[in-house]
Amino acid sequence: ISDRDGKIWMDGELVDWRDAKIHVLSHTLHYGCGAFEGVRAYKTAQGTAIFRLREHTERLFNSAKILRMKIPFSIEQVEQAQREVVRANNLESCYLRPLTWIGSEKLGVSPKGNKIHLMVAAWAWGAYLGEEGMKRGIRVKTSSYTRHHVNITMTQAKTVSNYTNSILANMEALDDGYDEALLLDASGFVSEGAGENLFVIKNGVVYTPDLSAGALNGITRNTIFHICQDLGLKLVEKRITRDEVYICDEAFFTGTAAEVTPIRELDRIELGSGSRGPITEKIQAAFFDIVNGRNPKYAEWLSLV
Ligand code: PMP
Repeated sequence: ISDRDGKIWMDGELVDWRDAKIHVLSHTLHYGCGAFEGVRAYKTAQGTAIFRLREHTERLFNSAKILRMKIPFSIEQVEQAQREVVRANNLESCYLRPLTWIGSEKLGVSPKGNKIHLMVAAWAWGAYLGEEGMKRGIRVKTSSYTRHHVNITMTQAKTVSNYTNSILANMEALDDGYDEALLLDASGFVSEGAGENLFVIKNGVVYTPDLSAGALNGITRNTIFHICQDLGLKLVEKRITRDEVYICDEAFFTGTAAEVTPIRELDRIELGSGSRGPITEKIQAAFFDIVNGRNPKYAEWLSLV
């Protein structure tokens, strides 16, 4: 991905894609203290628009705050950087990756005095868990790895280091022939996917783990809350056990990259009908109407680039 034409926004300017480099002694590379976002822009009738730009940018600043890192730009500047990157790369629809990291002035665990950097890149990225998965549903494995406890590296921050846990779980699931991992919290309750929030549907009610299970406060998760309300579906945040997932009627993952991806199997146990369920299909359709600008109620969630 590093060897291509295009522009990346780095510390206030657009630089050539291949020149967007950092020093090997960068603090974040050694100790993993950094934060990032995953954002998407969609093609709408009005033009390319970034979905929930303000919420993603605010979460980035909150992640940095939790990590005691002071981003040397304003929220407005970082929003503008994201618009500029989409425009500069002539992208109609794309994934955006803002990331803030600690510089290379010195090493040692304490980063005090080191410069805080910020970059934004954008590129075309289709269905994260595959086009077929969006229609048929994916196969998921309960991970042997536990999701972070809420008092370890902080779970409401989208930190670089939290993803070691996601990578281990995802690699294990893929090596075992599954599409994605589902992680349990330190008490054994369902938390989230390696890069997605989880929803299950039982008897017409939609359930999702409450955030005390260490799941990220997903922006797509919040979008689903609005969709459930619009569709007249009851939504409950609660502790969920893995066997409640086994006997649910429908399940799906949500995330900026994963969008709304149905789950057809957990640990080789078929969920519901073993395919995308009817309520999931309705929620998925409502989601794509919103992000593609076909639902005027949510026009303010779309920032034209
Ligand atoms: N949980 C994890 C671990 C994630 O990486 C993501 C993707 N950012 C999500 C949940 C979903 O969050 P969002 O809907 O804000 O992308």
